[in-house]
Amino acid sequence: MAEIIGDREASLEPLKGKTIAVIGYGSQGRAQALNLRDSGLNVVVGVRPGGPSWKRAVEDGMKTLSIPEAVKIADVVMVLLPDMVQPKVWREQIEPNLRDGVTLDFAHGFTIHYGLIKPPSSVDVVMVAPKGPGQLVREEYLAGRGVPALVAVYQDASGSAWDTVLALAKGIGATRAGVIKTTFREETETDLIGEQTVLVGGLMELIRKGFETLVELGYQPEVAYFEVLNEAKLIMDLIWRYGITGMLERVSVTARYGGLTVGPQVIDERVKENMRRAAERVRSGEFAREWVKEYEGGMQRLSKLMDEMRRHSIEEVGARLRKIIFHEA
Ligand code: NAD
Ligand code: MG
Repeated sequence: MAEIIGDREASLEPLKGKTIAVIGYGSQGRAQALNLRDSGLNVVVGVRPGGPSWKRAVEDGMKTLSIPEAVKIADVVMVLLPDMVQPKVWREQIEPNLRDGVTLDFAHGFTIHYGLIKPPSSVDVVMVAPKGPGQLVREEYLAGRGVPALVAVYQDASGSAWDTVLALAKGIGATRAGVIKTTFREETETDLIGEQTVLVGGLMELIRKGFETLVELGYQPEVAYFEVLNEAKLIMDLIWRYGITGMLERVSVTARYGGLTVGPQVIDERVKENMRRAAERVRSGEFAREWVKEYEGGMQRLSKLMDEMRRHSIEEVGARLRKIIFHEA
């Protein structure tokens, strides 16, 4: 059983009187910086002077510094930059300015797990990975709740890294929803495998292939769109709220019988074999190497794939129908 830690089991004490530098003020950076500040902690933001994130941080009343300046005064350095940007900023602006005995915190384990960043052995390396987008991390905090998170310690130089990471998780509001202890490896691999096979890759392809199947059989694209894309959200909401059986209990008995008998024939063992292959590429580091190469080469394959998706007929039908559904016409 996973160890789940709640709000009362974590204390902010280890961070009192400490300076927390949030590096990057994007989706996670802004949300985490504001939550930590509202939890009564001392937060500074490190961003590129004059850039859009700098302006946003100043507008939010944050003490805003360049990245090297923020790192120089920090006891805790939160690296909340895009994963592919982290290695270069680490080499040029973070590592040369680190104080002794600091804590380095990440929101995803990618760069540490795959060795793109190699911190000195004298620092603590920890992670609070919220299991939700930054905007929600902020909204839930303001509503008195939190987004659950995974927490991990990669390197415990001080002997008190777990106290620090739990304090950070509490300051962000994550312990209100519960945090689960994990490792950098487990967080990184499950995150990548999950987004590739189920969340981003799996759902998208399931919907696209379902749409193509209906349209190729001669049905109207608008009808196909409502059936396999629009309604997917309504079914997902039921699964999210009530679980799979709860969803099955709330659809028609015909849908329940058809789904239970035909579902495993469509998403069959071959799909699971494909998922295992994708998982293997993540676990071996092959996917990470490919992605770093693609990023460094200018991401031409990514732009091409995005263009192809943009031009797919489900997107054309969808853009038209969403104007009606969301009264944007
Ligand atoms: P983001 O793209 O929203 O924000 C990144 C910040 O970095 C911005 O302030 C941007 O201005 C700055 N930045 C970009 N390039 C830079 C450069 N070359 N030099 C200096 N600053 C630069 O990033 P994010 O989505 O918040 O991701 C941050 C971390 O959080 C990543 O490790 C990511 O995996 C993790 N994470 C994100 C989410 C999410 O909801 N987006 C969820 C969980 C974990
Ligand atoms: Mg992810």
